Formats: sequence, C-alpha cells, structure tokens
Amino acid sequence: MTPSAKDCRPKHRESNSPSAKNNLILISPDGQFDLVLLEQIREGIEGAFGFPTVIRSLLDDVEFAYDPKRRQYHSTAILEQLAAVAPPEAYKVLAITRVDLFIPILTYVFGEAQLGGKACIISTHRLMGAGPVVTGVDLYARMAKEAKHELGHTFNLQHCRDPACLMHYCRSEVDVDRKMDQLCRYCRVLLMDALKKLEAEKDGVRQRIKTPAGLAESDKYSKN
Ligand SMILES: [Zn+2]
Ligand SMILES: [Zn+2]
Repeated sequence: MTPSAKDCRPKHRESNSPSAKNNLILISPDGQFDLVLLEQIREGIEGAFGFPTVIRSLLDDVEFAYDPKRRQYHSTAILEQLAAVAPPEAYKVLAITRVDLFIPILTYVFGEAQLGGKACIISTHRLMGAGPVVTGVDLYARMAKEAKHELGHTFNLQHCRDPACLMHYCRSEVDVDRKMDQLCRYCRVLLMDALKKLEAEKDGVRQRIKTPAGLAESDKYSKN
C-alpha cells in the first residue's frame, strides 16, 4: 500500500486533449510489484508510444470495485476512479493490480481500457498468477505486452485480426505469448495517425495560448 500516493486534487478537468503540460503516461501500481517488472513495462510503453512514462500510485486500493457475488473486481469501476483522480499532467493512466478482474459479460479479463479515453488496467492474476507454472516463458514480457495492448486502446486502436499483432484479442495467456511484442503494419499506421493528430492538437494548444483569438477553435480538439 502506498498511503502517500492518493491523489486528492479536485476531480475533473479537461478533455482528452494533450497540452504542453499534459503529456505523461502514468503507471499506477496497486500495491507493491517487482521493480524489474515495472521498469520493463515502463520502458516498453515509452518505446511504443513516445510519451515520458512515470510510476506513481493513484489509488490506495481497489476494494471499492469488489463484487462479493463474483469474488472478483469490476475493472470498469476502477477505470472510472482512475480517470477521476488522474493528475493534470497525466495524459493516460495504466493501473497494474494483482486482483482478479471482470466485466459483467466475461468470466474474467486480463485487463480493460477506455477506448480513446484516459485509463486502462492490467492484472497479474491470470497472466502471471494462475494455472500451472510454465517454464521458459517470460511472464514479465507477457505483462508488458498486455500493458501496451490496453494503452493502445486508449489511443483508439481496436482489436486486430492478425494473431501476431499486439492488438490481437487473446483468450488465453498462451495466445499472449504467441503474439509479437509489436503492432502489425496496419495498427502501426493507425497509431502514427493518432499520435500525429495529438501533435497537431498540441500545436493548436500552443497557438491558442499565444493567440487568444484562437480559443474559439478549442472545442474542435477536445473530443475524439
Ligand atoms: Zn483488447
Ligand atoms: Zn494489428
């Protein structure tokens, strides 16, 4: 637990548009994790998305999302809370937890993301903790892949049919191991387009700061 980490700043600000100050990706661990794992995920994210990425816990725990009937945690509730408490400098937030996550229509999920939104989450529970111990499998690489997969959704990437692509939907951890640690060409182009759009939005923000007359344009950039 990280008692000092809870962010108590006022909720809500802003749109989903980046500004010069709003360009970090935050990794928010729920509890303690091996620093090697966190660093592997952090480096992977920076490499894939090009945003400075830092590790900082935003939630004391995720007990508010516990469903006693299912004995699992509702990931959508965690995402909403993360997005609400995210500090202004966080453009995207990825939570990492050990608890078993679900959404109502599925038995469990490895993670969940707000498509085109701010928050996503992954859990070690199914990816690292359950099932027989597999030797020769890089469990940290598995987590890093799913971290990038969920973040990809926050950049508006959807599931890809290519089983080797990072954005392929995986039903089992074996499927995760099978896919590559990178996007297929098609998804890469989509991500580049999304990132270019963000750059254009940032330029727009800068221009609006310089020229107040440009403020009328702001709505154009605030939604996706
Ligand atoms: Zn997905
Ligand atoms: Zn793809």
